[in-house]
Amino acid sequence: MIKTPAEIEKMRFSGQILRKVHEAIRPLVIAGKTTMDLEIVANREIASFGAKAAFKGYHGFPAALCTSLNDQVVHGMPSERTVLKDGDILSIDCGVIVDGFYSDAAVTYAIGTPSARTKKLLEVTKASLEAAILEARVGGRLGDISAAVQEMCEAQGFGVVREFVGHGIGKTMHEDPQVPNFGTRGKGPRLKAGMVLAIEPMINAGKAEVKVLKDGWTAVTVDGSYSAHFEHTVAITKDGPLVLTR
Ligand code: MG
Ligand code: MG
Repeated sequence: MIKTPAEIEKMRFSGQILRKVHEAIRPLVIAGKTTMDLEIVANREIASFGAKAAFKGYHGFPAALCTSLNDQVVHGMPSERTVLKDGDILSIDCGVIVDGFYSDAAVTYAIGTPSARTKKLLEVTKASLEAAILEARVGGRLGDISAAVQEMCEAQGFGVVREFVGHGIGKTMHEDPQVPNFGTRGKGPRLKAGMVLAIEPMINAGKAEVKVLKDGWTAVTVDGSYSAHFEHTVAITKDGPLVLTR
């Protein structure tokens, strides 16, 4: 799906509101808070901007946020029973709809002092997103984006999740193409101005395998290792990648 410059501007507005929602949540990601505390603030912030929570009600998902703790990879659900503590990591994924346009962004925070290996996991996953964003340019191939994530993360011995991928985004949350975090440079669809992609490395400290819990949503690592997730919504323009959720 190719967006006009006017549509990309609307998506940027959506992305800026989403960024403010993330900023409002950030001070609450501390030991002693629950993931439901974050959910409450997210809903309040989203409403204050006249926006809509994109995830709430999506295939029955109950919340505005996905809050995925430690070995949870994605799609964790906020709960007043989930109390953050020193040494945890928490991925917060949120999407909003503003004037009919979706934006989608995720970040993973350490609570207190992470282990050296966990710190490395967060740094490398975030860096792999930045490397992938640099490949979101006219004339490139989708595989360039995918390979950028895979190469950087596998070089550190981290597991690249296969079952969940990034996606095109616009007037719906998930559009073609899928944006895997593994692939081959020079392969896949050609990247064109006006494409908007949610690029989202999901990276495990251990093996790549994941499974979904009985709740039907929460994906966890099979080996119990910690998992990190960073995501931006990125427009491909003739002037280069434009990160709409920065
Ligand atoms: Mg997301
Ligand atoms: Mg996404």
